Amino acid sequence: MLTHTLGYPRMGSNRELKKKLEAYWRGEAGADDLALTAKKLRLRHWNDQAEAGVDLIPVGDFSYYDHMLDNAVRFGVIPERYNVTDQKASLDDYFKMARGQSGENGVPAMEMTKWFDTNYHYIVPELREDQTFCVADESLLEQINEAVTVGHKVKAVLPGPLTFLLLGKCADQEFDRLTLLEKLIPAYVEFLGKISDRCAWIQFDEPILALDLDEEVRKLFGPVYRTFKESVTDVKIMVASYFGGLGSNLEVAAKLPVDALHVDLVRGGQDLEPLLEKISDNLSLSLGVVDGRNIWRADLDKAIARVKSAQATLGSDRILVAPSCSLLHVPFDLDLETKLDDEIKSWMAFARQKCGEIKCIADGAGGKDVEAVLAQNRKALESRKNSSRTNNLTVAKRLASLKPEDYQRKSPYLKRAEIQRAELGFPILPTTTIGSFPQTAEVRATRSSFKNGRIGQAEYEKFMHNYIADCIARQEAIGLDVLVHGEPERNDMVEYFGENFDGYCFTSNGWVQSYGSRCVKPPVVYGDVSRPAPITVDWINYARSLSSKEVKGMLTGPVTILCWSFVRDDQPRSVTCRQIALAVRDEVADLEKSGVKVIQIDEPALREGLPLRRSEQQEYLKWAEECFRLSASCVEDATQIHTHMCYCEFDEIINSIAALDADVISIEASRSRMELLGSFKQFSYPNEVGPGVYDIHSPAIPDADEMAALLEKALEVIPAERLWVNPDCGLKTRKWDEVEPSLRNMVQAAAKVRQKI
Ligand code: GLN
Ligand code: ZN
Repeated sequence: MLTHTLGYPRMGSNRELKKKLEAYWRGEAGADDLALTAKKLRLRHWNDQAEAGVDLIPVGDFSYYDHMLDNAVRFGVIPERYNVTDQKASLDDYFKMARGQSGENGVPAMEMTKWFDTNYHYIVPELREDQTFCVADESLLEQINEAVTVGHKVKAVLPGPLTFLLLGKCADQEFDRLTLLEKLIPAYVEFLGKISDRCAWIQFDEPILALDLDEEVRKLFGPVYRTFKESVTDVKIMVASYFGGLGSNLEVAAKLPVDALHVDLVRGGQDLEPLLEKISDNLSLSLGVVDGRNIWRADLDKAIARVKSAQATLGSDRILVAPSCSLLHVPFDLDLETKLDDEIKSWMAFARQKCGEIKCIADGAGGKDVEAVLAQNRKALESRKNSSRTNNLTVAKRLASLKPEDYQRKSPYLKRAEIQRAELGFPILPTTTIGSFPQTAEVRATRSSFKNGRIGQAEYEKFMHNYIADCIARQEAIGLDVLVHGEPERNDMVEYFGENFDGYCFTSNGWVQSYGSRCVKPPVVYGDVSRPAPITVDWINYARSLSSKEVKGMLTGPVTILCWSFVRDDQPRSVTCRQIALAVRDEVADLEKSGVKVIQIDEPALREGLPLRRSEQQEYLKWAEECFRLSASCVEDATQIHTHMCYCEFDEIINSIAALDADVISIEASRSRMELLGSFKQFSYPNEVGPGVYDIHSPAIPDADEMAALLEKALEVIPAERLWVNPDCGLKTRKWDEVEPSLRNMVQAAAKVRQKI
């Protein structure tokens, strides 16, 4: 029984790749230096996996930026604006495509979007109707050679052509991207010819198999992979599906004319039996039994039992053991965590540990003596299950006693709006911002000094108070109507709350790649969540003491906190989310009690929590809406609840946004030039809306007329009494000398439009 992984984290134990990439971009490291770092990391990672007992070593999972971009470059899919000759992109062209270039010869980056429902973002291939393909880049071949030289049994990894095309977008006008398949296949075949004699296996990633596919797409799998299979001789071909069950694609997958099919049995466990029944005689099955998306130890006994049940039908020769998906989505190595509580740490496994788990599962199923490892595994699982750290009875009781009215504001929006208008007295088209103001190096340094004990509480508070006072003064001078304190005390909108909740813990090195060189360190929910004490109340009230204007209380919503954390796998996500909602609710109640009249609960991740399968989406949306309302509904009618989301595809979830029943929602809208408001109109969105009038991702300073024009466009859809004026998102990544003039212009734009009403 062979073991393999579908991919490994790229950054290195110390995020060496990130650091070297950024040095290269700053011009402080040369291309050779970068290449050397990359090569060392690859060698080390292959070695780590081999040492842990992985038989087939993945090559091609490494990337300077993103594997979909690599595939685009490999096959010469380069948008015209990058001006490359012969469809061949140099390293600098590659980075231009990934990141854009500013200045005189400036060119925008390619679009980036979420990789399925992970927090990884890929670069979206841009395809033209007359697109041609060729083998334009052979760096994968070089990497394969590197691995072969040091003696690894290589499995080359690359995106499959169907996933590549379907996840791409049309460069200008719409056309059926699958019509390009005919031209793409020969390029793949040519490339396979170049690599096939050096590897044992080639893995094609086709995670679209975990999506709802049209019959016409499903029909393409057989012919495409038959062509591939027939074009090579000595190498074996695997098609990998992951991130969910196969659903109605199961028949097609079970009959693929290749050597092995990989399936995600963590999320698609129900697939195993039907697969065993339907699988073609010469197809092997790679069983993804170790969770590649989460940080918990596997239940090895259970996994071994599962593998054995497959073995009984297929025999050992036709089984491979693997994690559910690439290990890209989990941190590198648990052994590097020196500050984690020992008990909690014993419940976890990161990428390196997961390699050991698959080895143990394969050995155990193969009849080897793994009793010692199993005994340790059982002990850890037992401790996790029964620990008082996991189970908090008060939280359980509170959840059990929730009543329908806990999920609902006292009065409907129209009545609340009337009361709020009288109470708050905002002008028509009120101006505000989304929460954060520029996080200067000094702010970050002060936070970290405080965390490391280099400065004390008093000094820390003094610094933060100064920053807040400065924010308030600037906002008053600009003439904004509803102020914010600026969020200087927050490193991250989820980590900050996690740090102040019970049931949460933090790794020191648990980085996961989000895009390019950017990594995030998601907090970990290990137990029942609650909020032991107020978190934001003092900061907001300090800000309020400095102004006669309203200052918004600023919170992160339960769904976003859930989506951006590693969460428990021993209870449904909806239960964890409800616990978080109650913790946020306590904070909302305390803010209101202390006199805060406007409270914003950000939910930028609501859309990304949406399950991949349509059949599962309604259920998710239902509990997500409930959790938001649970967090917000304890307040009086006069208290105004805001929420914020920043993405532009609202169509699918517009009804859910309405169901949140926030008094005001601010959304990203400037890049789509207010077009998205169409869905707000179509679904008669009932409450107040602040469509962003300027793009905070760009350093450009928008002028007042431009923003006034956007507001007028918004007024065609949203009546003036329900329209707010704000930027697209928080301003923490911008500089003050961009923010101040932009906001001044925004206030002016609002004034201009008010005059016309
Ligand atoms: N309040 C947060 C901020 O202003 C919102 C960030 C977000 O939407 N991602 O930074
Ligand atoms: Zn935002």
